[in-house]
Order: sequence, then structure tokens, then C-alpha cells
Amino acid sequence: MLRFAPSPNGRLHLGHAYSALLNARISERLGGRLLLRIEDIDLGRSRPEFVAGILTDLDWLGLRFEAPVRRQSEHFADYAAARDALAESGLIYPCFCSRGQIISEVAAREARGEPVPRDPDGAPLYPGNCRHLSAGEAKARRERGEPHTWRLDMPAALRSLTAPPVIRRFSPDDGVLETVAADPGRWGDAVIVRRDVPTSYHLSVVCDDAQQGITHVVRGQDLEAATDLHALLQHLLNLAAPAYHHHALIRAEDGEKLAKSKGSESLADLRARGITAEDVRTMLGFGTVD
Ligand code: GLU
Repeated sequence: MLRFAPSPNGRLHLGHAYSALLNARISERLGGRLLLRIEDIDLGRSRPEFVAGILTDLDWLGLRFEAPVRRQSEHFADYAAARDALAESGLIYPCFCSRGQIISEVAAREARGEPVPRDPDGAPLYPGNCRHLSAGEAKARRERGEPHTWRLDMPAALRSLTAPPVIRRFSPDDGVLETVAADPGRWGDAVIVRRDVPTSYHLSVVCDDAQQGITHVVRGQDLEAATDLHALLQHLLNLAAPAYHHHALIRAEDGEKLAKSKGSESLADLRARGITAEDVRTMLGFGTVD
């Protein structure tokens, strides 16, 4: 069982088309099924017109998905239950720090010459202040309605393991598996539950992949490092873990990553300039004769 899981916060571009087409090709090779999941937990950025655009673009590419399409925003209760299970185990803690406070704390540490490690995306690791709040203070602040995220207590989570979690990778050509050790520690005390919704990308993705019985995840290399965190969450929540293939990203001519935020041409733009779905498939290496 495979899935294509776009976030509806912009129109799809060639990178999404490549990922969706590769999912379809691998699913066919494996004799599997392909699901579509709309990752719309970001209520501020997700828009109904982008969901409609995703459906139009995938249909245009000739891709068909099973109904019903899962929308993450309809499953907040499931994610809240996973959050509660993690909170119960004491491996996540509420964090009341604002982004601004974290930035100043990191700057102060750097000014004192203390090294501040960075996560694989280059962001400074959370210095861990709220990890040391007493249970009583944390509870009182939550009860007063203070906005908070929930962070993984990474040192405690790692101590709770008897062996490092593993990631199974599969080859898209022959399905052959290899197992590698994950290194979730490099993400530090990552945010597992955002301030505004009872989940995060990381929590929803592991819950949904398990819930939907996903056996093979095919997604871009930009999410490869996050898989270390996913492997840890799967272990802590006792969830089934799929095998992964992270494909190379389709880049713009200047070598930059394609991104909605950078104004990369969308599939809708290409269509408007007369490019056909067959042209896109051929351009991406999925032509009929390949
Ligand atoms: N929703 C994510 C994105 O659009 C993809 C998540 C995944 O494939 O795990 O980048």
C-alpha cells in the first residue's frame, strides 16, 4: 500500500508530479494500491481551492486514487490520542517558549561561546529550558491556558530504548530491502504537537501511515532525515513502520529546490501555456516509451 500525501498550501509543481508518478509506477510494479492523503493540518495555510487544484492536477496527469481520500484535518482526535499516550509515558513535555524567546536564548548561548547544535534542516536545537519545569508549574501554566507546544524529551526517549530504532529502505527497482540504524537524536527536543492543532507533520504522518496500512513510502529526499524521527515515534507509539524510498528532488534550472514560496511554475501554469500531461510525463522520465 502506497500513498501520495501533498499539503494543500499551494498548487502542485513538477516535483510533486514526479513524486506522484513515481508512487504510481512503484505501486504498479509491486502490484500494490495507491492512496491519496491530503495533509491539511496547517489550518492557516491550507485552502479548499488548493485541495481542488490537487485533485484536478492529479486527474490531468492520468493518476487515479482510491476513495475516500483521507484528510488529516478530519482526524485530529486520533492524533490527540497519540499525543496523550506520549504525554502519559512522560516522553513529551509542554513547552511555553515563543519563537522569539528561543531565538534570543540561542543568540545568548552563542554570544557566550557555547556551541548550539543544529538539526539536519539547519535550525538550532531547542535549548531544553521547559524540559526542566516542575510537573506542578507545567500543569498550572497549561491550566491557565498558556499557549504551548509539546516537545519530545529526546534524552529520555533515547534512554528508554534498548536498541536504536531502525529504518527499512527499499530499492524502487527490485523492492530489495536494507535496514539502517536511525539517528533521531540529531533532531533534539523536536516539536511533536504544535501550538494551534493537537499534532504536527511528524506525529500525523506516522499515525496515518500505520492507520492506512502503508507498506512503502515514496517521497522526496528532503524528508529523508525526518525519517529518523519517524522511526523513533513509530517505536514509542508501537506503530507499524513502512519501508522507505527517498527520491532525488526535481530542481529548477538554477539547481534550487522547486517551491511554491519561490514562485516555481505550477502544473496549472504549465497547462495554461499549452504543455500537455504527456509532455510532463516525458519530461520527468515517465513517457510511454521509456
Ligand atoms: N505533506 C508532505 C509534503 O507535501 C509530504 C509528507 C510525506 O510524504 O511524508 O511535503
